[in-house]
Amino acid sequence: MNDVVIIGGGHNGLIAACYLAKAGKKVTILEAQDQLGGATVSQQLFPDFDAKLSRYSYLVSLLPDQIRHDLGLTFTTLGREVASFTPVQREGENLGLLITSDLGAQTEEDFRAITGSDAELEAWKSFYRDVQIIADVMAPTLLKPLPTRSELRAKIGDRIWNEIVERPLGEVLEARFSNDVIKGIVLTDGLIGTFADAHSLQSNICFLYHLIGNGSGEWKVPQGGMGGLVRELTQLAHSLGVTMECSRKVVALEVTDKGYQAICADTSRFEATYILANCAPHVLAEITGSTPPDSLDGSQMKINMLLKKLPRLKSGVDPRLAFAGTFHFDESYSQFEIAYRQAAAGEIPEIIPAEMYCHTLTDTSILSPELVKQGYQTLTLFALHTPAALFDNEPEAVKAKIVRRLLTQLNTYLEDPIEECLALAADGSPCIEAKSPLDLETDISLPRGNIFHKDLSMPFREDGTPESWGVETSFPNIFICGAGAIRGGGVSGIPGHNAAQAILSHSSSGTFL
Ligand SMILES: Cc1cc2nc3c(=O)[nH]c(=O)nc-3n(C[C@H](O)[C@H](O)[C@H](O)COP(=O)(O)OP(=O)(O)OC[C@H]3O[C@@H](n4cnc5c(N)ncnc54)[C@H](O)[C@@H]3O)c2cc1C
Repeated sequence: MNDVVIIGGGHNGLIAACYLAKAGKKVTILEAQDQLGGATVSQQLFPDFDAKLSRYSYLVSLLPDQIRHDLGLTFTTLGREVASFTPVQREGENLGLLITSDLGAQTEEDFRAITGSDAELEAWKSFYRDVQIIADVMAPTLLKPLPTRSELRAKIGDRIWNEIVERPLGEVLEARFSNDVIKGIVLTDGLIGTFADAHSLQSNICFLYHLIGNGSGEWKVPQGGMGGLVRELTQLAHSLGVTMECSRKVVALEVTDKGYQAICADTSRFEATYILANCAPHVLAEITGSTPPDSLDGSQMKINMLLKKLPRLKSGVDPRLAFAGTFHFDESYSQFEIAYRQAAAGEIPEIIPAEMYCHTLTDTSILSPELVKQGYQTLTLFALHTPAALFDNEPEAVKAKIVRRLLTQLNTYLEDPIEECLALAADGSPCIEAKSPLDLETDISLPRGNIFHKDLSMPFREDGTPESWGVETSFPNIFICGAGAIRGGGVSGIPGHNAAQAILSHSSSGTFL
């Protein structure tokens, strides 16, 4: 008999399993797909080319150093000197805003050229100084039971708390910045993976998750691709005696006198005292026959490309700089507002806000030495405000239309059209793959393609509510160990760690079903 059965073998399920197995628990992971990893996998997407792309998630910020240390992980993430580049067209002129991590001379010059003075850069520095105060307070709480609202507020201070936690992000950005492009760049972190407008508090929550990772909010490149994390966790889990079974889709749970039996689609059964759900809360609701939580639909397109060369830009900036960090295009504040309104009304936005980055400018190890020698590169495109509902009637036709629109938008800024840069397979087809929210539901069971399993929650509990790790469910001995937990979204391992701690403190207190 298992102590714990984990439904789903994403990185969080694996992290929970490792902590529990280290503490002497007998653990079995049941994964629906034929491989572990969920949204953190690297795959050879184009069979003619030895290139292993991070198929879904691609950058890491939220994985705490403490988890790496506790589990002895060697998985490495690499910092980037370029934070972002934004091409800007004005009166027929092609300009660009390069933001380096140290906000050096080129960044100062570009801010001046785009905004007309030094004021926006000063506003930027002052805003992110305030955000750093929040990160310094929130980051150390993420691997502990949830702090209360007033505990965090007291440490952060009323002014910053009110501005960044209580008031809609849009109001704050409008008050602190005046340039449309700059406001848009700041807003992106509030909208990645969240179909909201700037005046919804949901964008504040998304913003916080993008800015507090490890106390720095720095997004780093996973060396060897995202699959490197899962490879190492799988090896560790194996060495700790965790049983991992793929192609075991859990479809029901039965209560027994000792705990639960997880029943799989192939009729196999696995008994355990505790159940951890690494699957989304919606999936757990289906399995238990309970009501699923309310949640927004997923709203992004993920496009993976293999290039034979990087495109040159009309602005003349070196593509090795432009694509090294986040390449924002058509993500100004007003473009976000218009795109949100159009998408919420059921239309494909006329201009779809999007961003890209090139993994191989930082880490070539995902390509074979032969491809590196020939100058091949990868590009990841993440488009926003394309909610699942747009695809419901004609999924493939709408996807094709959106891809075409995005590539046309991108080409506005390029000297070399992107189509000329794409690698071609032996049959002449271009190496480009697009995943809509509906594809994500089919591929890896993300409800309506929500990349965080469900809407993110503020990383604290209300005053007067019971102590909690943010992983509890309404069922005894069933905890959420995936992105759908409070403090769950992203590649972080945090809900995996926290659910394991909840079981360890629960079982040591002698409380059973
Ligand atoms: C396109 C995309 C891009 C993203 N980009 C980033 C990024 O760059 N950085 C970042 O930090 N985050 C990113 N995210 C979010 C991040 O990847 C996820 O929040 C995180 O990977 C969730 O991990 P998890 O282990 O909780 O769940 P998942 O990775 O979703 O794993 C859950 C597992 O449960 C399995 N499962 C589901 N139902 C069942 C069942 N009934 N029985 C058995 N198994 C089941 C699934 O097959 C899956 O393997 C992205 C997500 C997507 C989709």
